[in-house]
Amino acid sequence: MGVHVVLLPWTSQGHITPVVQLGEVLATRSEGFRVTLVVTARVKARFDRTASPLLYHPLIILQVIDDGLNPDPSYTPSFPEVIASLPTQQQSLESLLLALAASPHPATCLISGSFCSWSKSVAVKVGIPRAELWSSPAFIYCIGFYHHCLLSSGLIPFKGKLEDTWITCIPGLPPIRGTDFVKEFLQRQEDFEEDPERFQRVCQYIKDTYGNANEQYRILVNSVYELDSEALDTLCADGVQALAIGPLFLHNTPNKGTEKPVNPLGISAYEEDRSCLQWLDGKEKASVLYIAFGSEAKIAKDEMQELAHALEASEQRFLWVIRPESVVDETSIDSILPEGFQERVTERGKIVSWAPQMDVLAHPSIVAFLSHCGWNSTLETLWLGVPILAWPQRADQGVNKRFIEEHWKVGIAVEKHEGKATRASIGIAIRELMQEERGAIARERVKEYQELLKKTVQEGGSSRRNLDKFIHDLCSLADQKAESSV
Ligand code: UDP
Repeated sequence: MGVHVVLLPWTSQGHITPVVQLGEVLATRSEGFRVTLVVTARVKARFDRTASPLLYHPLIILQVIDDGLNPDPSYTPSFPEVIASLPTQQQSLESLLLALAASPHPATCLISGSFCSWSKSVAVKVGIPRAELWSSPAFIYCIGFYHHCLLSSGLIPFKGKLEDTWITCIPGLPPIRGTDFVKEFLQRQEDFEEDPERFQRVCQYIKDTYGNANEQYRILVNSVYELDSEALDTLCADGVQALAIGPLFLHNTPNKGTEKPVNPLGISAYEEDRSCLQWLDGKEKASVLYIAFGSEAKIAKDEMQELAHALEASEQRFLWVIRPESVVDETSIDSILPEGFQERVTERGKIVSWAPQMDVLAHPSIVAFLSHCGWNSTLETLWLGVPILAWPQRADQGVNKRFIEEHWKVGIAVEKHEGKATRASIGIAIRELMQEERGAIARERVKEYQELLKKTVQEGGSSRRNLDKFIHDLCSLADQKAESSV
């Protein structure tokens, strides 16, 4: 009986990508592995929309489960809608796993996105081990796992001022300023005044998602031990089988980390505008600033305008991704940008709605990346040796920024005033990165991290060893299952 892994990603782009990359690694690296990717109808419709090769992948079998929600690929269900859909998803996943159990290819292991905590009870019911894939660094996982420390230290429900608060009570995480902390973990008193019991429910939800990580078969982290060792060691010391196996996209490269990766699976949320690569071909080496805020961030129009003014004043060449619906309450680029901006910068600036990011970052004309510090973007830019101008927007990005700037020293943060970046603060950060000593250090350090990432997936590297160990353990699980069924 061979190994059959069933992958269950959370439905957003930043989560699907690493899960699919893991599926590809398992399917290609390990002979006889069977890989099934379970998605909702809405995600499948997104694959249809971009004609993703995943639809015909020779090694990954696609299975659709029901969530009872609108299957339109552009639809984003609200959080309460997602919660209400969970029993339907649980039922549907259970039926699928039971059908597999009765087939010649029973599932050996469920590998679930960490946010799909609802799959824990299904795995227990069906009697298969459940591993998780965490698509942020382990230092963020620590915030979920040790969320109770925020409660016991009296920090939540939070009443103070974020800018005056340092969070020092999370094991595995260095002190973080309140303004950089993950908002979703720092529940504010004022948000619960109308329904105080909701605070208990939210804490319980976090506990259900992360609290019993030590009971899961493995917590696979799309990170690198050398970047994230304190958090990984802390989790392991508390009985969590946390394994850093990233960057997952690098295991898929033909020469295991010596060539630039592409996006062969076409799991992009939007259609890529590749014309920007030709545009970059015509620009001098190391002269263009790449600007992108990932697949989910929504930015206020006034901040976008500040960025435009800063770019104009800096006389910097730039390639700027403005995703459809990325600006609050605006859809047309003309109404987002200052009047006449596009005409004035036409020689040195290009705007696209979605770029082939890996190819862009690998282009010799790129000098730096103004990024929202999403974890995939961070790994990608480290791997391609491009220093970062860090402008976090939400979720884990503020904490990532702190590591980027203070611990790894591969970038410079854009200062915010009353929570917002201004044309002056953006201009200062651009100048510092391009012209000053801190920028020179960042450009040098990022090359060292590029080397580190290359080595980690090669023979003997930490991520490679962890991945090999996981594959070996899956084979043992399948062997045990085969023996017990004789
Ligand atoms: N991305 C892309 N083209 C773009 C912008 C982003 O291909 O124009 C990809 C990027 O390479 C990364 C992903 O979208 O793999 C964004 O993931 P990340 O974790 O950085 O941010 P999120 O979208 O989760 O906020």
